[in-house]
Amino acid sequence: MMAEVPPVLSKIWSTHRQKTLPTRPEPINSVIEIRRSFVHRSIFASKQLPTLHPLLIPVAVIEQPARHVSPINYLIVESLLICLNRNSTSSLFGSSPDTFWGQFDEISKYNVHLNVFERLWAAWYAYVQNDVLATGIMSFLMHEIVYFGRSLPWIIIDRIHYFNKYKIQNQKIPTAQEQWNCAKLVLLSHFTVELPQIWLFHPMAVYVGLATGLPFPSLLTMAYQIAVFFILEDTWHYWSHRALHWGPLYKNIHKIHHQYSAPFGMAAEYASPIEVMILGLGTVGAPTLWCAISGDLHILTMYLWIVCRLFQAIDAHSGYEFPWSLHHFLPFWAGAEHHDVHHERFIGNYSSSFRWWDYVLDTESGPEAAKKRRERKLAKEGKKFQ
Ligand SMILES: [Zn+2]
Ligand SMILES: [Zn+2]
Repeated sequence: MMAEVPPVLSKIWSTHRQKTLPTRPEPINSVIEIRRSFVHRSIFASKQLPTLHPLLIPVAVIEQPARHVSPINYLIVESLLICLNRNSTSSLFGSSPDTFWGQFDEISKYNVHLNVFERLWAAWYAYVQNDVLATGIMSFLMHEIVYFGRSLPWIIIDRIHYFNKYKIQNQKIPTAQEQWNCAKLVLLSHFTVELPQIWLFHPMAVYVGLATGLPFPSLLTMAYQIAVFFILEDTWHYWSHRALHWGPLYKNIHKIHHQYSAPFGMAAEYASPIEVMILGLGTVGAPTLWCAISGDLHILTMYLWIVCRLFQAIDAHSGYEFPWSLHHFLPFWAGAEHHDVHHERFIGNYSSSFRWWDYVLDTESGPEAAKKRRERKLAKEGKKFQ
């Protein structure tokens, strides 16, 4: 038997067929309806007039012009709802406005111009009813899922003999015990050091003027901003990491990170809490600086940037160099080959993402760089005696 198509889907589908959406016939009622749905229960419960959730103000009061809804958006919404065995009248989770999916339904009724990710985003904030909590939970979960989710394939690869030929220091495959010890320290650090910082993220974001509303920025905007953050963070990382190799700082702070001379993915954040804060300042500081200067940054761009940065850090510690590694196509990209030498030799290659700072300031590490340095020295001495 065919599942009944929920009203929101039939609306999107008919929209897709007609190519255009009619503007809502009763905008005032719709706004009131949305107002009813998104009363901020915890803070505004005592006030007589219901108050809109701040995230939804632009969504509720702006009349959207007729707009085409892509079939891909329709398919995403449909698959998501069918996977969850839901329709508008019955649901595994229930569709009361008090539930997350109830909020999702309410938002979907009046905001068909939003894509599925935007609706999920709005439903999450409307469901939690506390922005600091909503951002805190989302940020922490995102960090844990991405960190361990990205480390897992490297743990599996370490166990597959075929890939040993791609391991840079192939005589040093980490043992299961080493990886477990690393995971324990990283988890301890995440819960004791990073969790409180993540909790402060939303107030900080609001203070510096990060946008949290809808719609999301375009992919192009997010891409160029993330590219800028990579350049800024790399610069911060180069200088602060180089400073951490100065005697007293190395002994008291950075030595922990160098416990593994042959790194592996999960070792990316195996470090002293002070180091996590110093180097983390580059990851959070770069977008903060950008936002303070340009006033144009969405919190989602920040999230995507942190995801990219986590991928970069974990991959750089993976210890694997493949013929398809990114630096073969982008010669200035650092990658695992660059950072693995740093762990092996404890000196040089201080950058995180790019190679230019080490190249320009002559701090490249490894046998090739040493050979070049020797040749330059000999050439200099030869000139002296001429
Ligand atoms: Zn180091
Ligand atoms: Zn490292």
